[in-house]
Amino acid sequence: MNLMDREQMPISANLFGEDVFNDVVMQKRLPKSAYQELKRAIGEGGNLSPETADIIAHEMKEWALERGATHYTHWFLPLTGVTAEKHDAFISAPLPDGRVLMRLSGKELIKGEPDASSFPSGGLRATFEARGYTIWDCTSPAFIRHDEGGATLCIPTAFCSYTGEALDQKTPLLRSMEVIDREAIRLLRLFGNTTSSHVVPYVGAEQEYFIVDREKYLKRMDLVFTGRTLFGAAPPKGQELDDHYFGTILPRIAAYMKDVNEELWRLGVPAKTQHNEAAPAQHELAPIYEKANVAVDHNQIIMQTLKRVATRHGLRCLLHEKPFAGVNGSGKHNNWSLMTDDGFNLLDPGVTPHDNIQFLLVLTCILKAVDEHADLLRESAADVGNDLRLGGNEAPPAIISVFLGEQLQDVLEQLISTGKAEQGREREKLLTGVSTLSDISKDSTDRNRTSPFAFTGNKFEFRMVGSRDSIASPNVVLNTIVAQAFHEAADILEAAGEERFEETVHDLIKRYAAEHIRIVFNGNGYSESWVTEARRRGLPNLPSMVDAVAALTTERAVKLFTEFGVFSRKELESRMEIKYETYSKDIHIEARTMLELTGKYFLPAMIRGAGKLAEFINAIEQAGGDASVQRNLLTELSGLIKTANEAKRQLEEVTKQAERHPAGRTQAVLYRDNVVPAMEALRRPVDAAEMILDKEMWPVPSYADLMFEI
Ligand code: ADP
Ligand code: MG
Repeated sequence: MNLMDREQMPISANLFGEDVFNDVVMQKRLPKSAYQELKRAIGEGGNLSPETADIIAHEMKEWALERGATHYTHWFLPLTGVTAEKHDAFISAPLPDGRVLMRLSGKELIKGEPDASSFPSGGLRATFEARGYTIWDCTSPAFIRHDEGGATLCIPTAFCSYTGEALDQKTPLLRSMEVIDREAIRLLRLFGNTTSSHVVPYVGAEQEYFIVDREKYLKRMDLVFTGRTLFGAAPPKGQELDDHYFGTILPRIAAYMKDVNEELWRLGVPAKTQHNEAAPAQHELAPIYEKANVAVDHNQIIMQTLKRVATRHGLRCLLHEKPFAGVNGSGKHNNWSLMTDDGFNLLDPGVTPHDNIQFLLVLTCILKAVDEHADLLRESAADVGNDLRLGGNEAPPAIISVFLGEQLQDVLEQLISTGKAEQGREREKLLTGVSTLSDISKDSTDRNRTSPFAFTGNKFEFRMVGSRDSIASPNVVLNTIVAQAFHEAADILEAAGEERFEETVHDLIKRYAAEHIRIVFNGNGYSESWVTEARRRGLPNLPSMVDAVAALTTERAVKLFTEFGVFSRKELESRMEIKYETYSKDIHIEARTMLELTGKYFLPAMIRGAGKLAEFINAIEQAGGDASVQRNLLTELSGLIKTANEAKRQLEEVTKQAERHPAGRTQAVLYRDNVVPAMEALRRPVDAAEMILDKEMWPVPSYADLMFEI
C-alpha cells in the first residue's frame, strides 16, 4: 500500500498489526523463494530448509530491532493455564574487539530448550529429565510486545517433551485441526466439492472480566492470592436492576478500554466489541473470529493485555470465574465454525436443497459428536473457578445440551418421523426432503442464553468455558469429536458408492437425528426441571471438576484421541493427573488464605469490635442509660467470634488431612468434600460480623467498595 492510502486510513487501521510479523511484512522483507517456502509451510505444513530458516530469522530480527526490541522469547502455553516465556537478548558472545552482534539464527527461531522441569507434566517428564522443547508455530504470527521491560519479540511455539509428548495446549490443538481438515475435506469431496483444499475451524471468543480499583484490590489478600473474594457480605445493591448490562461505560473504564484496544490492534488482535456485562464492574471484549490456533493465542494476548493495561490505569482486571459470591461470574463464549479455504462455511445452511442436505449431515454429525462425547466437552471447560459458576443460575448447567432453535428442530423432527421434511413450519413446501434453510441465521435471533452449546445461525457457541481458561481444550475436543463423526459418515458414504449416495445421505441424516435428538434442548437450561429431564434422557450431569476430569481417560476417550492421533493414552493420563493436582492446590491455597485472613484480620477485628461494645455498655450503664441493644449486639458478635474460631480450627484440621494425602483423585475429592464445606462454614460467621460491625473497623474493602467505587 502506498503512503497516500495509509495516510487516509483511520488511526485504528494504521495501528492494526503494527507490531506483527505478518504477511505484508514477510512479503516486503523476505526474498521471494524464502517467502514462498514459508507460505507453503504455513499452508501445508512440513519443514523449512535450514537456509530458509536462517533467512527468516535474520529478517525477523532486523524487523524487531528496528522496532526497538532487545530480546526474543519462545512464547508458549504450558498446562499451567497461563503463557510462559523465557527471554534471550539478541546479543552474541562479545567479539575479540569487545563489540557484540545482534543475532537470531534459524535454529534459535525454530527450536528452544527451556528448562522445562518446573512446568506441570503430570509425570510425563521427571524433573531429572528436564528437557523440553519449544518449536516455532509458523501458523501463528510472531509479534513484538512493548511493556515496562522494553520490547520483546514473541515467537509463538508448541512445547513438548524430549520424547515428543505434548506438554502444552497448542500441540494437541494443531493436531486436532489437521484431523478435522482431513475428515471434512473427505465429506466435501463426496458432495462433489472439488475446489476447496482445506477446512479450518474458526473461533471467536467473547471474554468477560471484572475491573476493580488497584489500591482496594491490594488490600484484599484473598483477591491477590486466589483471584476471588473468599469473604464478603453481599452489597445492598447487586445486579437486580439489570442497569449495568449494556449500560453507559464509566469514563475511567472507557479510557482503559481505549488503551486495551489500541494495544490489541497493534498486536494484530481484531478487538471488535466491548460492553458492560450483567454484574456491576463486569465487562466483555470480543474479537473478530480467526483461525482456531490464532484465536487461541490471541485470547491469551487479550487476557494478558487486559491485565497489563489495567495496572497502568491504577486498576486491576479480575479474570477469575467467580470473583464475588452472589453476583454473576465471568465466562468465555467459544464461537466455532468450519470454513473452507475458499470461503464456504460448513455451518451455513445453503440456498439450494443440495447445500441444505450437506448442511443437515454436518449438523447431525455434530449432534452425534456432542451427544456421544458430552462428558469430554464438559471436561474441556472444567476449571476450579468454573465449579462456582456452572449450574448457578448465571451460567449453563453442568449438563451438555444443544440449542437448535425451533425451525431446525422442526426439520429434524419431521425427518425422524417421516423420513422426509415435507413441510417447514409456516413455510412453503420443501423439495427433496429439505429446501432453503437460508434464513435460519435471521431466525436465530431468538437467542437462548441458557444453553451451553447453541447454534447461532452459522456457528455454534460453546458457552461453558471459564473466563481464565485457555480456549484450546474446548476446541481440541470439538475438532476431534466432529472429525470422528465426519469420518464415520464418510466411511459409510464411500462404501455406498455414487449410485446410492443420495439415499444413503438421507438415511444417515435421519438415523443420526433420531439417535441423538435427546441432546437437543431448546428450553430454559437454568431451570430445575431441566436437570430432572436431562436425567431422564440419560445425559451426564457433572457439576464438579473433580468428577468431570475422569472423562479424559475413559476407554471411549482414549480410543477417540489415539485413533486420530490427537493425544496418546499417556498424554491423557498426564493431563488428568495435572487437573486433579491443580484442583487440590487451588483449594489448598484458598483454604490457607482464609485461615490467614481470619487469624490476622477478621477475628482480631471482631474481638476489637466486641471490646469496644463492652466499653460502651459499661459506660452507658454507669451513666444510667439503657444498653440493652448494645448488649444484644455484643451477644450476637460474641457468638459469631466463637463460631468463626471453631470453623477456623475445623478448616485447619481438614486442610492438613487433605494435604497429607498423596496427589490424585482421592486427594481432590477430600478437598472438594471436606475442605470446601469447611471454607463455607468459616465464611458465614465472618460475613455476618461484617454486617454488624462499624465499617471503620472492617479491615478490608467491602463488596460495595470494590464493585461500585471505580
Ligand atoms: P453474539 O453477539 O450473538 O454472541 P456476535 O456476532 O457478536 O454474536 O459474535 C460473537 C463472536 O462470534 C465474535 O467473536 C464473532 O467474531 C464470532 N463469530 C461470528 N461469526 C463466526 C463464525 N462464523 N465462526 C466463528 N466465530 C464467529
Ligand atoms: Mg455470545
